[in-house]
Amino acid sequence: MDLKALYREVILDHYKKPRNAEELSAPTHEAKCKNPACGDRITLQLQVENEQVSAVGMIGNGCAISQASASMMTEAIKGASLAQAQAVLREFRRMIVDGAEDLDKEMLGDLITLQGIAKLHARVKCAMCGWSALEAALEQQEEEVDLDQDQSMPASNRSGGM
Ligand code: ZN
Repeated sequence: MDLKALYREVILDHYKKPRNAEELSAPTHEAKCKNPACGDRITLQLQVENEQVSAVGMIGNGCAISQASASMMTEAIKGASLAQAQAVLREFRRMIVDGAEDLDKEMLGDLITLQGIAKLHARVKCAMCGWSALEAALEQQEEEVDLDQDQSMPASNRSGGM
């Protein structure tokens, strides 16, 4: 796979123009995630009405992968039911953290372009930062997620990078 072309087209576009990058006026759910190994931070807000994500707000800073992945996540869950948002979260985690290849490509949509990051172990936490914030938001977890403390993530001191 030509990862450079992938980064150029998709990641940099989302990094430069993050989608839903705004604070919501009346969020019903909010969570934060940090990835100290890289310096990524994401604050995610959701407005949930009738079991549906009616609005999403994402404020973050950090590397291109973290911000692009979070931006793509907001597009994937906006307008989705809570069950659909959970399903996309599970499938994305399987792709990036578990390295699964029998993926539901229809469900993942554009997110499939991040698949190569599963092999760049140092960047897995970057790609998961926004999604860990989503998981925490859905669980109404108030404490900031620290990916350095997340044992389900691969060690970040391995090779790979952008
Ligand atoms: Zn990062």
